[in-house]
Amino acid sequence: MKINGIKENTIFIDGVWREAAGGKTEAVLNPATLEHIMSFSYGDEKDARLAVQAAKDALPLWSAKTARERSGYLYRAYQLMMERQEDLAVILTTEQGKPLAESRGEIASAASYLLWYAEEANRIYGEMIPSSNKGKRLFTIPQPIGVVAAITPWNFPSSMIARKLGPALAAGCTVVLKPAEQTPLSAVGLVKIFEEAGLPKGVLNLVTGDPASIGKAWLEEQDVRLITFTGSTEVGKHLMRSSADNVKKLSLELGGHAPILVFEDADIDQAVSLSLMSKFRNAGQTCICANRIYVQESIYNHFVKKLVEKVKQLKMGNGLETGIEIGPLIDNHALEKVQSHVQDAINKGASITAGGNRPSLSKNLKGFYYTPTVLTGITDEMLVMKEETFGPVVPIQSFTSEEEAIEKANLTSYGLASYVFTENINRAWRVMEQLEYGIIGINDVFPAAAEAPFGGIKQSGQGKEGGREGMMEYVEMKYISMGLK
Ligand code: NAD
Repeated sequence: MKINGIKENTIFIDGVWREAAGGKTEAVLNPATLEHIMSFSYGDEKDARLAVQAAKDALPLWSAKTARERSGYLYRAYQLMMERQEDLAVILTTEQGKPLAESRGEIASAASYLLWYAEEANRIYGEMIPSSNKGKRLFTIPQPIGVVAAITPWNFPSSMIARKLGPALAAGCTVVLKPAEQTPLSAVGLVKIFEEAGLPKGVLNLVTGDPASIGKAWLEEQDVRLITFTGSTEVGKHLMRSSADNVKKLSLELGGHAPILVFEDADIDQAVSLSLMSKFRNAGQTCICANRIYVQESIYNHFVKKLVEKVKQLKMGNGLETGIEIGPLIDNHALEKVQSHVQDAINKGASITAGGNRPSLSKNLKGFYYTPTVLTGITDEMLVMKEETFGPVVPIQSFTSEEEAIEKANLTSYGLASYVFTENINRAWRVMEQLEYGIIGINDVFPAAAEAPFGGIKQSGQGKEGGREGMMEYVEMKYISMGLK
C-alpha cells in the first residue's frame, strides 16, 4: 500500500530509502477511522547509529558551503512544500486526525520556517570585541554545532520538524531525525521534499521506529552534539539526565499548562471566540493551548454562557470531510487520559456544562473521539488544573482581583504560554510582567511565528525556536584572541 507516493521503506540514511536493519515494521493508524493506513519501517539502535555516521560524513561538505548556497536549498524546499501543500495536508490529517483546514495551515506554517531561515542563513554574524589590550584583537566566529539529533512529537508532525530543520540546515549542521511513531508519514513527506530540493546525501537522515533504542543510541554517540527535542516534560527530563555523561547541548520544547485570564474590562466576544480557538483547535492537543480559563467574577456567568453556546456547535468528525472543526484524539492512551481527568474533576465536585462523554458510536465516529467539554465548579486540586489534559476539555474558574488571577496563573511548574484578555493597557503591562511564562499572548492566542522566539521556562523547557534566537541553538560562538606584533 502507498499514500501519495510514500511506500513502506520510511528510513532515509545517506540518501537512500531503506527498511529497518532488523526488518521490523509497525502500522500507522488513522485515528478517525481506526483503519490501518500503511506500515512503516520500525528502526532501532543499529539504524540510529548508521544515520549518525552518514550525518557525520556529510558535515564537512555541508558546513563548508556558503551561507547563500545553504539558503538556496532551504528556499527550494520551501517552494516545493507550498506546491505540495494539499498532498502533505491530506497525509497529516489522515495519520493525525486534525481537520484538513488546520493541516493546510500547519504545512504553510512549517514552510514559513524554511523560508525565514533561508533568509536568516545569510545573517549569522560574529563580532569584534574592543580589547583592553592594545596588542590584541578579540573576536567571535559562528560555527555549526555539528551533528544534530532532532526528536519530534505527533501533535504538530510537520511544523515541529520544520522549526528544527530550518535553523539547523541554515547554520551548517547535519541532522538525524526521529518523528513520533504515531505520525511517521508527515516526516517522510517532508524529507522527500528536501530530497527533491537536491539536498546532498547524508545532510538529513530520517530514522522512524523505536523511541527508546533510537534515543539511547543518539545519547551515546559522541558525534551527536545537540539534541533538539519537542515533546513531554517526562521524556525531556530523561534526555536531560542521560545526556550528562557526554555533556551534550540540549534544546527542549516541553509540555505546558496555559492559563487564560479574562478581566472584566476585556472585549468579551473576542475573549470567547479566541478562547474557543485556543482550546479546541487540534482537539486540545496543543502545547500552548488553553488548559485553564480564569474569568473575573463580574463577567463569569456571561462568559461561560457564551462559550458553552459555541462549544455545543462545534462540528466533530473525520477531518477529511468538509466543515469539520474538531477531529479525534491521537490514540486510545490519549482518550483514556482525557476520560480520567474528567472523572477526577467530577469526583472532586466539578459540574459538566457541556460534553463530558464520548459521542454515540455511529459509522462516522468510530475513532478516538471525545465530545468538546466545559467544566465548572472547579477547584485547584483537580487534575485538570495541574496536568496537561491534552484533549478537548476546558475547566473555567472565577477570580476576584488581579493579584489573585496572577497567583493562580503562576501556580504550576510549567511556564510555556499564557494569555490575557483586557482592554486596559496598564493592566496588560502589569500582568504580563508578572506572569512566569516564556510566551504571553495579550488579546491574542496564536503567538507562534517563524520570526519570533518561541519557548518555555520552568519545566516547559530551555532554548528557543524561531527568530534569531532559534538559529543560535545550532551555532557555537568560537572566541578568538589574536596577539599582534
Ligand atoms: P512524547 O514525549 O511522548 O514524545 C515526543 C517524542 O519523543 C516522540 O518522537 C517519541 O517517540 C520520543 N520519545 C519517547 N520516549 C523516548 C525516549 N526514551 N528517548 C527518545 N525519544 C523518546 O510526547 P508526545 O506525546 O509525542 O507529544 C505531546 C507532548 O509534547 C505534550 O507534552 C506537549 O505539550 C509537548 N509539545 C511541546 C511543544 C513545545 O513547543 N513546547 C510543542 C508540541 C508538543
